[in-house]
Amino acid sequence: MIRIRQLTKHVGADRIPVLRNISADIQSGEFISLVGPSGSGKSTLLRCLALKETWDGGSLIINGEDILKQGISGKLKQRQEWAFLEQNPYVNLNRTALKNVLIGRAGQTPVWRMITGMVRSDDYMGAMDTLEQLGLLDKAHDKCEKLSGGERQRVAIARALVHGAKVILADEPVNGLDPAAADRVLDTLRTLCKQERITVISVLPLETAERFASRIWGLQGGEIVFDVQGRRLTFGEKNML
Ligand code: ADP
Ligand code: MG
Repeated sequence: MIRIRQLTKHVGADRIPVLRNISADIQSGEFISLVGPSGSGKSTLLRCLALKETWDGGSLIINGEDILKQGISGKLKQRQEWAFLEQNPYVNLNRTALKNVLIGRAGQTPVWRMITGMVRSDDYMGAMDTLEQLGLLDKAHDKCEKLSGGERQRVAIARALVHGAKVILADEPVNGLDPAAADRVLDTLRTLCKQERITVISVLPLETAERFASRIWGLQGGEIVFDVQGRRLTFGEKNML
């Protein structure tokens, strides 16, 4: 259970408010989509949740613990369990899908392992299981340079899961993908929510959010103006954005 309470954020020299008193409770397994016009604060909200930006006020309580009041070790643990999925995820093009998943990114993996590329056999099995789950088993030994954008995005999801992600934050993760590849990535995320109780919070276009998300937050002017179960939005709701 994640509780966001009164999250506020100001930016720039003028201290312009970008997020105003955002509060919400999130259960494991929810697929939450943020929708709203450009500049409404969607990316800032995700970056604050990922602790990539400081909070000016409010609290983030995960399983009863107030993360922002914890020291660096508590924050590091949260960062490990909350993966931030970029629009164009970094993958090493010269390495196979499997190696990318196993080696992880800086901060996820001990330095010696990043240098030597050595892995334990149970890590190998876990990575292969995850690649299979994401429909990438036949690509496991292909170099990432041969993979499509959608496949690389799924490699990045597999990497996050293998390194212990319980929450995936994603800012427009399927921009630039063709519709079939985009659907495949989103279907993967939805299945992970249902079967593995992974929590996904993602900025998506409205029509995509309506099709895949279990819950939709409408953002406008740094506030959540509606919070509904995943479904087609009403004209009234769309007009609020
Ligand atoms: P969205 O992702 O919904 O398009 P953002 O979260 O990127 O919106 O931005 C929200 C508002 O905050 C925008 O008006 C943007 O210009 C402003 N903003 C975000 N970060 C900064 C910053 N570091 N300095 C100044 N303004 C910022
Ligand atoms: Mg944005």
